[in-house]
Amino acid sequence: MLICTGYGATSPSSPLAPLTFNRRDVGTSDIEIEIMFCGVCHSDLHFARDEWHFTQYPAVPGHEIVGRVKSVGEGVSRYKAGDLVGVGCMVNSCRTCTSCQEGLEQYCAEGLTGQTYGGTDNAINEPSKGGYSDRIVVDENFVLRIPENLDPAAAAPLLCAGITLYSPLRHWGAGPGKKVGIIGLGGLGHMGVKLAHAMGAETALFTTSASKVEDAKKLGASLAILSKDEAQMAEHAESFDLIIDTVSASHDLSPYFNLLKRDATMVQVGAPEHPLPIPVFPLLMRRRNFAGSIIGGIKETQEMLDFCGKHNIAAEIEMISIQKINEAYERMLKSDVKYRFCIDMATLKAG
Ligand code: NAP
Ligand code: ZN
Ligand code: ZN
Repeated sequence: MLICTGYGATSPSSPLAPLTFNRRDVGTSDIEIEIMFCGVCHSDLHFARDEWHFTQYPAVPGHEIVGRVKSVGEGVSRYKAGDLVGVGCMVNSCRTCTSCQEGLEQYCAEGLTGQTYGGTDNAINEPSKGGYSDRIVVDENFVLRIPENLDPAAAAPLLCAGITLYSPLRHWGAGPGKKVGIIGLGGLGHMGVKLAHAMGAETALFTTSASKVEDAKKLGASLAILSKDEAQMAEHAESFDLIIDTVSASHDLSPYFNLLKRDATMVQVGAPEHPLPIPVFPLLMRRRNFAGSIIGGIKETQEMLDFCGKHNIAAEIEMISIQKINEAYERMLKSDVKYRFCIDMATLKAG
């Protein structure tokens, strides 16, 4: 066993604090990564506080991991010591079901058993632990290559926020001639604005925060709409081909359904603690679709990273020390992050 250090929660109400825990030894096809940076996803907060009701404690969050390869197992062929690599939300899957064989491991028939945190490491039969830590051991098939031209800290959020928006944008055909809306300018939303714009779509942002309107335009939105302003919303009725909802809390969906064209789709990626009521009439009346999407497969995640390398796209980050993580969670709950916290993992050594 490897003894690792990190930050984690020991109950739904306890703040994150330093702890030590086990990881498996580096196996034949494994890579040991020294973690340099880890993005702070709102899912980390949902998970640490058991808002999705499957957390096992101690819970070590973090699934936007970037670091350098420290050592590799004897069967590893794709990576060598020193490579700049990333790990996202998955570190394993069944590898045999139809979805896994199609490169859609996020929809594995066995469920998300191989999650970076919130799954199980079968080798040691312990709950898997995430990236708020000094190092991680991952099978090479679930390790991604980070383009060397990107700032490694700003690239970390691509591993979850980036792929979570890239995958539905591609699946539902965002591109030239399409009008795409993103709801919420947080970690996921700001990546959605950048990516939809880079794909050539006319991009709109819906926000509850007046202070984010100007930023949205700088990030690539040609429209930034205050969602509480009914007159602004009405101007865009029945004009969208695709809307992606990244909101992390309970909110009303009906104003958005009315903005979709006939047959167009709204995709839910935000995962609030409580169920969202679905207003059915706006769906019925224009044969509109309401869909969901979760992260993206490993192959598509590499494709997204390469796309970001080519277009020089990364997250807007506010760097924090690990000691500031609880404060960062409170600010995230107030929508006060522009636009992703990123932990400098070197600060872990300070205790
Ligand atoms: P985040 O950085 O906190 O951003 C969420 C944004 O939602 C906020 O910045 C805010 O944007 C808006 N918002 C928050 N509370 C709101 C409210 N009460 N009403 C309306 N808007 C509100 O969170 P994130 O990391 O982007 O994650 C967003 C959600 O996606 C979380 O639930 C997370 O668990 C989930 N998630 C899902 C996947 C997936 O694969 N499907 C992957 C990662 C994360 P404005 O200030 O612009 O209004
Ligand atoms: Zn995430
Ligand atoms: Zn599978």
